[in-house]
Amino acid sequence: MARIAIGGFQHETNTFAPVKAGFADFEMADGWPGLTTGDALFEVFRGINLPLPGFIEQAKAAGHELLPLLWCSASPSANVMRDAYERIAGDLVSGIKALSRLDAIYLDLHGAMVAEHLEDGEGELLERIRKIVGPDMPIVVSLDLHANLTERMVRHASALVVCRTYPHVDLAETGARSAEVIDRLLKQGPLAKAMRRADFLVPLPWQCTLIDPAMALYGEVAASETRNAAASASFAFGFPPADIHECGPAIVAYGETQAAADRVADNLIGALKSAERDFAGKIWSKDEAVAHAMLKGLSGRPVILADTQDNPGAGGNSDSVDLLEALIRLKAEGAVFANLYDPETARIAHEAGLHNSFERAIGAWCGSPGLEKLSGRFEVLALGDGSFKATGPFYRGNHMQLGPMALLGIGGTKIVVTSRKQQAADQAMLRHLGVEPAQQKVLALKSSVHFRADFQPIASEILIVAAAGDNPVDNSTLPYRHLRKGLRLMPLGRAFAG
Ligand SMILES: [Zn+2]
Repeated sequence: MARIAIGGFQHETNTFAPVKAGFADFEMADGWPGLTTGDALFEVFRGINLPLPGFIEQAKAAGHELLPLLWCSASPSANVMRDAYERIAGDLVSGIKALSRLDAIYLDLHGAMVAEHLEDGEGELLERIRKIVGPDMPIVVSLDLHANLTERMVRHASALVVCRTYPHVDLAETGARSAEVIDRLLKQGPLAKAMRRADFLVPLPWQCTLIDPAMALYGEVAASETRNAAASASFAFGFPPADIHECGPAIVAYGETQAAADRVADNLIGALKSAERDFAGKIWSKDEAVAHAMLKGLSGRPVILADTQDNPGAGGNSDSVDLLEALIRLKAEGAVFANLYDPETARIAHEAGLHNSFERAIGAWCGSPGLEKLSGRFEVLALGDGSFKATGPFYRGNHMQLGPMALLGIGGTKIVVTSRKQQAADQAMLRHLGVEPAQQKVLALKSSVHFRADFQPIASEILIVAAAGDNPVDNSTLPYRHLRKGLRLMPLGRAFAG
């Protein structure tokens, strides 16, 4: 039995987004639990689809003693503020320092954290921890599929274990796999590592593992690990809207020998490179998408419009009303737009009361350049306190706290308004306001891919729409300055020239 310290610190940073993440954002519960410390880590996370509880369950079953530090996450946004990073990283480091006897460390990190003062949030944290515990202690880290893997992370972690699905329905399983790797390290000693990088970025909608080529590639990650008896094989697609040197897809593999690790890494990078031409799909303009959806959408089989460029799960503010404007202008009957993050509008709706209406310019309040508000008279169709249990496979089991919510109506379109920012990736968000998703003709969802876990089964068609927002599908429109030279901004696209 080993004594293993456990903790987590998660942020996915869109360096182009307008709003940074401060300490309060990590403290607050939203779609995931708020900042949690000590023994509460065992209670709060039980049954939730996150790596930490998956690790806890597996490691406890293996008989290990777990020493809880802290876990926190903040909604994706611009850089983590220096003070927040130093406070949380500092607490993790001092927590580890204070432990008298320690055999291993497990951390539940994201892998795409950029702070105000450093590019590689996870690499820096791992280096600080490695300095305290020395070169031999097993440190295993689970990471999100959107991790921008860095050489520093690979150097200081004994093993990095990346999730394999997008929508991320295997987060808990990724934690369990991390526990197996830590067990192996404790019993058999260190593993050889191999890292490889791709030289092109893949936009989020085409990273989805429910469709090819990503589906086939992730099948190969698991198959290659088994075929080569590797200890662990991982492929991270990276998070494109991060203006950092080591942005982009990468492979990391671990084996008994360097040759074994190299073989797996070479195989996977080869498969990725030969799939470059297959990362392509139609991007719809908002008017074209709304017109198509009105024609094809049926109650019982809605057409889903993915408002990907304002996906709050990728640093958008969820306050763009650009696609909503098209729904209203084109008189989309039976359409629901979710989730508009607009606390002031939610407050006014609650004040106005059920079945009353009010006039207001809604949305576009976070300050993103190029976004416009939408003026109109809105009827209050339903009100909620934003406290409910998620039912879909992605947010599975988590108790959502989205603050005061309202369902507004204008013409034939309904709008789900929240007071906290959360990706529209769970049907319970709509049902909380009395909307049965399957009965709508058109669902416009602020999400790139995660919505598919819960909504794809009820959809007749899914269209990826480019309406105004902070997370462009076309990476070549982003004003990058810090990428490495030669990295192609899109599959088969133009290379970054420096
Ligand atoms: Zn992710």
